[in-house]
Amino acid sequence: MTRKKTDTIAVRTGIGTDTQHHAVVPPLYLSTNYRFPALGDVPTYDYARGGNPTRAQLEQALTDLEGGAGAVVTNCGMAAINLVLSLLKTGDKIVAPHDCYGGTYRLLESRSKQGIWQVKFVDQSDPDALASALAESPTLVLVETPSNPLLRVVDIADICQQAHQVGAWVVVDNTFLSPALQQPLALGADMVVHSTTKFINGHSDIVGGAVIAATSELAETLAWWGNCIGATGNAFDSYMTLRGLRTLGARVKQHQQNTQAVLAYLQTVPAVRQLYYPGLTTHPGHEIAARQQSGFGSMLSLELDTDSDGVARFIAGLSLFALAESLGGVESLVTHPGSMTHRAMSDAAQAEAGIAPTLLRFSIGLEDADDLIADLANAFAALAA
Ligand SMILES: *Cc1c(COP(=O)(O)O)cnc(C)c1O
Repeated sequence: MTRKKTDTIAVRTGIGTDTQHHAVVPPLYLSTNYRFPALGDVPTYDYARGGNPTRAQLEQALTDLEGGAGAVVTNCGMAAINLVLSLLKTGDKIVAPHDCYGGTYRLLESRSKQGIWQVKFVDQSDPDALASALAESPTLVLVETPSNPLLRVVDIADICQQAHQVGAWVVVDNTFLSPALQQPLALGADMVVHSTTKFINGHSDIVGGAVIAATSELAETLAWWGNCIGATGNAFDSYMTLRGLRTLGARVKQHQQNTQAVLAYLQTVPAVRQLYYPGLTTHPGHEIAARQQSGFGSMLSLELDTDSDGVARFIAGLSLFALAESLGGVESLVTHPGSMTHRAMSDAAQAEAGIAPTLLRFSIGLEDADDLIADLANAFAALAA
């Protein structure tokens, strides 16, 4: 059978598989435990931390969407990253992006301060910095592309090739694009992690995560650790996430269409000092993004030509865009990375990562684009006032 297309996989997972009542939509199994038919006869599912039919359906969907060999659904995105880190031994080295997600930075930095691993944060788009980090024989290379919040893009296939030469695993955080727009395993990555809280669930009502592995050996090891450390996701959240996932393709298309409209408007506004979006031909990562992504996504950042009072006036002038963390939901959001998502980074680390105090990050939602643009116009008027 030919491999189904992404939208079909997302819509169809588990549909029509109920043999008991022939329910079209698969049922939700909330039970924590499952009966053994007889002594010594271990059922497929025995205890829900280790496995659950509803979670297994979401794991199958994500495995198929990312083109992997298996997946572990976790209770949040950080648990997914922590689960990958369970593969490491004391003293192992990790190479991570200098501008990675704030929570990832905090986890890697805190554990390295405890002496558990050594982590090197590098600008992976700088070939010399990457080569010298790889020369130290890391066990794991973490890649985040497009990165948060500046949407920097790195070449996944190229990094995988270089990392594999020194025997390192490559794990790609694919949260910002979802498998609808980027499939890192096909580019050579060993693992993909997601905060399913974002585009995969897409409705801002579930916190969840996942690791998808390229080989069944890695998938089995991750499943073993997931159960061991208690990182796995619960049945209800898996059910909700599977429900959200079914519309991933349709949502992403509309998210991108709205983003195009908003961008066209923002390019006309003098108070926008700098726009960060990989779809712009002026973006330094544009060519790589055009090659390795099947769309430019719906996250964009901008620097306002103002001071911190101006940033506050601008934000107060918005009514549709809520000032909130997170991204990838149906509703439009604005975030101030310096004081919100990236506050765990020191001022020096923020400056190093290029996070200016007037930087704002937008998650463009599914409202009518005209209303989003009108909302932004009100905020620019408030900024000028
Ligand atoms: C949100 C996010 C995470 C963490 O996920 P949680 O579900 O909040 O634990 C990791 N990476 C990226 C890129 C994210 O946006």
